[in-house]
Amino acid sequence: MEKKAFVTRELIENIAQIYPTPFHIYDERGIRENARALKEAFSWNKGYREYFAVKAAPNPFLMEILKECGCGSDCSSYTELMLSGAVGMKGEEIMFSSNDTPAEEFVLAEKLGATINLDDITHIDFLEKTLGYLPETLSCRFNPGGYFAMGTDIMDNPGDAKYGFTREQMFEGFRILKAKGVKHFGIHAFLASNTVTNEYYPTLARQLFELAVELHRDTGVHVAFVNLSGGIGIPYRPDQEPNDIRVIGEGVRQAYEEILAPAGMGDVAVYTELGRFMTGPYGHLVTKVIHQKHTHKEYVGVDACAVNLMRPAMYGAYHHITVLGKEGQACDHKYDVVGSLCENNDKFAIDRMLPEVEIGDYIAIHDTGAHGFSMGYNYNGKLRSAELLLREDGSVEMIRRAETPRDYFATFDGFEVYNRLFPKES
Ligand SMILES: *Cc1c(COP(=O)(O)O)cnc(C)c1O
Repeated sequence: MEKKAFVTRELIENIAQIYPTPFHIYDERGIRENARALKEAFSWNKGYREYFAVKAAPNPFLMEILKECGCGSDCSSYTELMLSGAVGMKGEEIMFSSNDTPAEEFVLAEKLGATINLDDITHIDFLEKTLGYLPETLSCRFNPGGYFAMGTDIMDNPGDAKYGFTREQMFEGFRILKAKGVKHFGIHAFLASNTVTNEYYPTLARQLFELAVELHRDTGVHVAFVNLSGGIGIPYRPDQEPNDIRVIGEGVRQAYEEILAPAGMGDVAVYTELGRFMTGPYGHLVTKVIHQKHTHKEYVGVDACAVNLMRPAMYGAYHHITVLGKEGQACDHKYDVVGSLCENNDKFAIDRMLPEVEIGDYIAIHDTGAHGFSMGYNYNGKLRSAELLLREDGSVEMIRRAETPRDYFATFDGFEVYNRLFPKES
């Protein structure tokens, strides 16, 4: 499928007069339409809820949009819990799916009334000691080990993943929790990441629904929900077929009708914890070409670097690139598109065919709306960019300002960089 940017060169030229590049920009309309389609696809399930995985795009303005679309939030840390509470989420609207969890994070989760999803059987005691009691509703994260395969395709390797309870521990854990007075139980598993197939959720759902029936029969507990977690991917590459969320929802419904309903468990709620799928395609990193270099290869140097988007450097991930204003031109030039870090893996693209690029061109790097800005860092003393929101009415709002050197130096308590360097100005 052809990948089109949701911004034009003209729009970016106007925006850049107010907010200099680089910046991440998000498309409100795309986020809302996609969230609506997801909700619709699971509307057959009475208790259905999407808990947006905050780590994908921890920005309260985006979280508010998703909240308006009926989403809760899925948190994995103290500050993500704080953000969720601050946008007005509470109680059942917050899922806390963490691991290696510090005690104070459990305390805050409980204070907000979040549903706690335990990552390990030893956390039962840890949580009870931390809170002094156990909540009435608890969830346990399942890890079957081995490989997660669909047919003959190996999708991922849960056996190598640090997360979750083994199968035996799920049964033992549910028995212990029941004996300690827990009343409602959840089952959670995240077994494959960024899947671009309509079969992942239905396959996972089948496994978890079967486990839910066995756990219910064996331990007598009330299974209140099955949480399919994240993992629905997006087509980063133009040759990838996007997921069809209606087909996915229908596949999960069939598994539900075949497995849970006949077992008398037709009241089980289905939850999802999607991050990438919710915001990934609706973000671009916009950056300007500031240099061109002709050595052993042809280089395009831009004003963003890996601190703004680390997926290419970290995973060798493909992110599509549009040279704005040159959409119709032939991609007949081969470039490495690079940032300024003193790291040779600071390349947004390697040997990428693009139209002829000139200094001053604006480039949109696609699919940065999830795990983009949020994975940013400050290596080489680089500063985090702004985040902008393209509203449905076409206006643009800054939803996070760019960092300044003052932000970068702010934590050197007792060493005032500004006072020493520019005593008169500060
Ligand atoms: C990261 C994560 C998610 C979201 O994953 P995506 O691939 O972005 O959908 C959901 N749940 C948990 C526990 C996670 O760690």
